Amino acid sequence: MNQRMYGLGSKSSVIREIFEYGKRRAAEIGAENVYDFSLGNPSVAPPQAVEDAIAQLLQGKDMTALHGYTSGPGDMATREAIAAHIRGSFGVPADAAHIYMTCGAAASLTISLSAICNAGDEVITFAPYFTEYKVFTETAGARLLALPSDPATFQIDFAALEGALSPKTAAVLVNSPNNPSGVVYGRETVKKLAALLAEKSAEYGRTIYLISDEPYRELVYGGVEVPYLPAYYKDTLVCYSYSKSLSLPGERIGYIFVSPQAKDEAALFLAVCGAGRALGYVCAPSLFQKVIARCQGMTSDVSVYEKNRNTLLSALTSYGFTCVRPDGAFYLFMRSPEPDANAFCEKAKQYDLLLVPGDDFGCAGYVRIAYCVSPAMIARSLPAFEKLARSYGL
Ligand code: PLP
Repeated sequence: MNQRMYGLGSKSSVIREIFEYGKRRAAEIGAENVYDFSLGNPSVAPPQAVEDAIAQLLQGKDMTALHGYTSGPGDMATREAIAAHIRGSFGVPADAAHIYMTCGAAASLTISLSAICNAGDEVITFAPYFTEYKVFTETAGARLLALPSDPATFQIDFAALEGALSPKTAAVLVNSPNNPSGVVYGRETVKKLAALLAEKSAEYGRTIYLISDEPYRELVYGGVEVPYLPAYYKDTLVCYSYSKSLSLPGERIGYIFVSPQAKDEAALFLAVCGAGRALGYVCAPSLFQKVIARCQGMTSDVSVYEKNRNTLLSALTSYGFTCVRPDGAFYLFMRSPEPDANAFCEKAKQYDLLLVPGDDFGCAGYVRIAYCVSPAMIARSLPAFEKLARSYGL
């Protein structure tokens, strides 16, 4: 067998282990007494329009067509609906010929990286980062270079980026709003990033692509703007997913948008199609392609997450914990009061608080708290957080 694949399959994810522990613990003491903040599974129902679209589609006449294969890159009407949404919302050129339907952001990323990278290439990202980036990049034959972010803000450290960019750089992979920090890159940051990548692409005589992983685009609070990267940098691929925005993670639906302004855009899109073919990711789930075509621009009720963020952030900081204020996604990245975040998570378990150590996100000394849970659970968990803080003398 392939030893790399065996290694990936046999090493279970820390997040999953904690989640499984939570289920065992819930059987012992009751689910209401376990405060499980491990998984990024949306707790808010999809909008009614999603359920209505499913019901209407299932009442159609031609079930064979509904459940049949679509074309490899996806159903044309769906791709057209997405392109129209992109043009209307972000004012950038977009057309169906540049949209490739996928099984969520994970597939969007794997395909995009495989479409771009050659052996020996490097992909740069910024810590903390989504744990699977390393796996996806290595599967594409490249090496992931994770640069530390500015520790005070978790924004891009441009000096570190400038030092890391090289003729080997195939792509820079960004995720804003970020999992696990919740940080959003503002307009000035994006402009600076775009200018640096354009300068280095010219200097090295190779296109450095920008890959924007954005499953949390619509999950922002207090009117924070999430700049649309193709409007700032032409060689951009957007890896989008409906997993979080429409609360559909189990339905596996998303897309890749190749900017029509990218160099050799038609060839780049064909490389995306080729990578989808090579990886077996052709024809994303047919029913959900048709569902999301009818739900463009809609989101689940993200005000629930905003309320959770506000409650948790103010309670945790009042207990003496430190976190960078998250403007988006549904995670808090909290500094561990002891250097070893794994030890801190073990201590938290004594209060039935299930948190995830930041080590796997490339950022030791922090823990991730996924607050996509019910507001009632947050309220019940606060005394446990307070006791945990007191146990460290905070
Ligand atoms: N990228 C980031 C930053 C994520 O947090 C996730 C899932 O949590 C993914 C990609 C994968 O998303 P999907 O479920 O759409 O494959």
